Amino acid sequence: MAKGKIIYKRAKDIPLNAMSVGSMLFNKTGAWRNVKPIIDYDNCIKCMICWKFCPDICIVIEDENPVIDYDYCKGCAVCVVECPKKCISLVEEGR
Ligand code: SF4
Ligand code: SF4
Repeated sequence: MAKGKIIYKRAKDIPLNAMSVGSMLFNKTGAWRNVKPIIDYDNCIKCMICWKFCPDICIVIEDENPVIDYDYCKGCAVCVVECPKKCISLVEEGR
């Protein structure tokens, strides 16, 4: 066993801590978001760099356009930073 590595053989051996229960289908992580990315389609060049970089795989391609699935987008802003046209902006959630 590697030094410092802890191996749990049974689920009941795992210490109590914050953990996700259920699959991603049940845990819609968009509820955590306090800012929301909005795509300006007038300036979008459909390069799909936002789709490639989104760490939550929550940008889908529909009719050759990137579309954000807000059920899962956490508002991390990676897409905002990576967009070469700077056509994704963040707005406060609820606006
Ligand atoms: S804000 Fe983050 S999670 Fe949401 S679409 Fe952009 S890269 Fe994906
Ligand atoms: S990265 Fe920007 S320009 Fe490229 S597809 Fe996404 S929103 Fe459009």
